[in-house]
Amino acid sequence: MVAATQHLPVAEQLKAVLAPGSELFYSAEQHGHYLASCEGYERSGVWVVRLSGRCDDNGQPFYLQEIPAILALANQVHQSPQRFTLHPISTGNNWGYGSALAADPSAIILDLSLLTRIRVDDADLGLFTLEPGVTQQMLRDYLDQHRLPYMVPVTGAGPSCSVLANALERGYGITPYTDHFGAVNALKAFLPDGSRYQSAISQLDQSGQDLIDKTFKWKLGPYLDGLFTQSGIGVVTEVTVRLKKNPPAFDSFYLQFAADEDFESAVIIARELLQRLEGVVGSINIMDKRRVLSMMVANPNGAAAHQIMSAEQVEALGKKHDVPAWTVIGTLYGEPEVVKAGRVIVNRLSAGKLKRKIYSNGWLVRFGKLALSLLPGHLLQEPRKMLQSLDSGTAIMQGTPNQVALPLAFWRNATLNADPSRMMDPARDHCGLLWYAPLVHFQPASMRAFVEHVRAVAPKYGIEPMITFTSLRHDTVDSTIPIVFDRSKPELVRQATECLQTLVRQGLKQGFVPYRLNLQQQNELIDKAAVCWQAGNTVKQALDPYQILSPGRYSGITAKER
Ligand SMILES: Cc1cc2nc3c(=O)[nH]c(=O)nc-3n(C[C@H](O)[C@H](O)[C@H](O)COP(=O)(O)OP(=O)(O)OC[C@H]3O[C@@H](n4cnc5c(N)ncnc54)[C@H](O)[C@@H]3O)c2cc1C
Repeated sequence: MVAATQHLPVAEQLKAVLAPGSELFYSAEQHGHYLASCEGYERSGVWVVRLSGRCDDNGQPFYLQEIPAILALANQVHQSPQRFTLHPISTGNNWGYGSALAADPSAIILDLSLLTRIRVDDADLGLFTLEPGVTQQMLRDYLDQHRLPYMVPVTGAGPSCSVLANALERGYGITPYTDHFGAVNALKAFLPDGSRYQSAISQLDQSGQDLIDKTFKWKLGPYLDGLFTQSGIGVVTEVTVRLKKNPPAFDSFYLQFAADEDFESAVIIARELLQRLEGVVGSINIMDKRRVLSMMVANPNGAAAHQIMSAEQVEALGKKHDVPAWTVIGTLYGEPEVVKAGRVIVNRLSAGKLKRKIYSNGWLVRFGKLALSLLPGHLLQEPRKMLQSLDSGTAIMQGTPNQVALPLAFWRNATLNADPSRMMDPARDHCGLLWYAPLVHFQPASMRAFVEHVRAVAPKYGIEPMITFTSLRHDTVDSTIPIVFDRSKPELVRQATECLQTLVRQGLKQGFVPYRLNLQQQNELIDKAAVCWQAGNTVKQALDPYQILSPGRYSGITAKER
């Protein structure tokens, strides 16, 4: 593959199609937004087109002309030495999967982060249309300012991440609409030839309002909207999302299991709750002690040490911070009577199997907060910290983004500490992180086999085995294992990459299949001869014959092979 050079033959032609405020520039800033990569990928520089998102005098966004013009130019010069490819990003915070980088190192990044309009399609139904740059925090602020009682589909990646891009990556969170693309009812995009895609429902609608499309996900005829996710076949300029209304009542439960052997019990309780209380319980998280500690405490060995915590350290820290072997976290949403009844069922299913049960609205937490508020601030620091983490976790489950999950990315960061008082950016802040994110059969035996697999492999590479499972439904659970390493040392980047490769390779034999891949994995794991990928690539080839858009993204076809 060709690397981007500081000379861009097509620069003047590109500038000519940009509207006022949009920019073309070369970035060689290694710790800047476009090149810094949590995954340890090395790039020397990249060209960026950043669209302004501004509108003309008629209120029409300039990008409606700019994007097709840029695509037309790319098609026009595809056979000449001026050839270029484009890679759209929304906020470029795809930490652990590729950050802001394209698979093709010479691609021009099409930065859509300044496209930040939010449209209310129907305030009663909770339908909102968002442009690519709308972050979780922007949406939260907008809803609060306009007193719209809806939850933001938050993720652990936090306030600065795009809602639209997370859905295109088929990301998920733990608010009730867990599956973020699942909550996308409609989208608009430009195809690689510059034509504007709208669904068949939108195309048939003659009312001039284009509303009905935004209420019905499955459209007419072949379902095409899904082709824009985990692919490189369009520049998506808006999505219409269905937001979950704030429930009248809410209660998070934290079920603490004392011993590692209690894991099977934890799994069965979580699954039973999801099956019996479907629609009342949102998503459920099951986390081990190391994972919870990584979000609460500093690495006891020091971030520079390439060494996992000893069993004794884990034990001692667990005791000090009251973190059990396994924690099951979930939330009850609904009418007050429903939430109350849900609590009865949580109590019944977990009776006699727990070390402790905490409800965010329970007397223990309320009493604790009251007691601490009456004491001087320097007293009882540990319980204070615990209550703060609890509050942050609860806010996430209520659809308010925060940075509570980000500290884990700093576990092996020898240059910078996690600091929630500033906006953290794991790529720019030199964190080393790769995700191992497989789907696991929601059965205790499979999940135990998965835990053993991670605990056997990760330490061999000096990687802390931190385990989380997140339920997607009662029949699907995904595990996100963060492979956290010191990115400043090439040897450790290599080891972390090998660790991930081994986890995947051995995991596939047991049926643990990733739901999402980083840039390197997209190259290594995609078997271009397989019918499924051939079919995907036939669609890509038909829509983007010159491979000008995100070549290599979930296709296995690199820019060179076009
Ligand atoms: C501690 C931590 C916790 C995390 N927790 C979660 C979590 O709970 N859930 C989760 O899903 N992820 C999580 N992540 C991973 C990741 O950071 C998020 O998924 C993040 O939202 C992705 O970045 P982004 O939204 O900026 O997307 P971007 O980087 O902007 O986009 C991702 C990709 O989507 C495509 N794309 C983006 N915009 C467009 C467009 N307009 N048109 C066409 N294609 C486009 C591009 O290929 C791009 O590379 C976590 C990361 C960290 C470090």
